[in-house]
Amino acid sequence: MTTRTCRAPGCGARTTRYGRFCSTHKSRSRRHGHPEQRAITKADLNPFLKLVQARIAKNRANPVWALCEARWHALVADAQRIITARQGGQAGSRYERIAAQEVVKLAANVEPLAVMESTFAMFLLEDHQPRRFRSDASFRSQLVRRLRGLSEVNAGVWLNPATGRSKRAYRELAPRAVMIIAAWIIEAFGGLGIHLAKLEQEERTARQQRINDYSAAVAQLS
Ligand SMILES: [Zn+2]
Repeated sequence: MTTRTCRAPGCGARTTRYGRFCSTHKSRSRRHGHPEQRAITKADLNPFLKLVQARIAKNRANPVWALCEARWHALVADAQRIITARQGGQAGSRYERIAAQEVVKLAANVEPLAVMESTFAMFLLEDHQPRRFRSDASFRSQLVRRLRGLSEVNAGVWLNPATGRSKRAYRELAPRAVMIIAAWIIEAFGGLGIHLAKLEQEERTARQQRINDYSAAVAQLS
């Protein structure tokens, strides 16, 4: 009675009982931020990571990287305060607590520079290939996925800072917790991310212009 056709274009499967999507598209929406969003892989991000690393190397003396790292430490300290407050019995959003735990875990497992580089690379990718992202939520979801992926180097072994033990788990996070983490990260690094993406775009345009000028000059030879 209550199932209908999945609303993802071209799907045709029946929806879950009360949902708008079939189970495949529903789980993709939870996992990737949109029913039609495909995962951004490490390989997808890699060329943009290289560009970010080259940009940082070119501007090594600029204090902005250290300032960014300080922003990351402040974000982690805020997350730690949220966890401590909840442990002290203070009420608050469950998803905020989950987000805070995830950030603290990330900080315990990954260098601040790696978090910054991957975040900036996501902004470059989004600027260069906007159609890779179906929505703002799916961009945010993929950003958090890639950051969590940074600690997967040991086949998904996490160091739990609370217990000091490592655990083999890549737990899927509640979408609401993912959006909270993304909002924190974007607040800390988003402005610079957009600026770095703009720099890359300007350089690409200038390169293309030089090629066009050259071709035009060649065409005018008589
Ligand atoms: Zn479907």
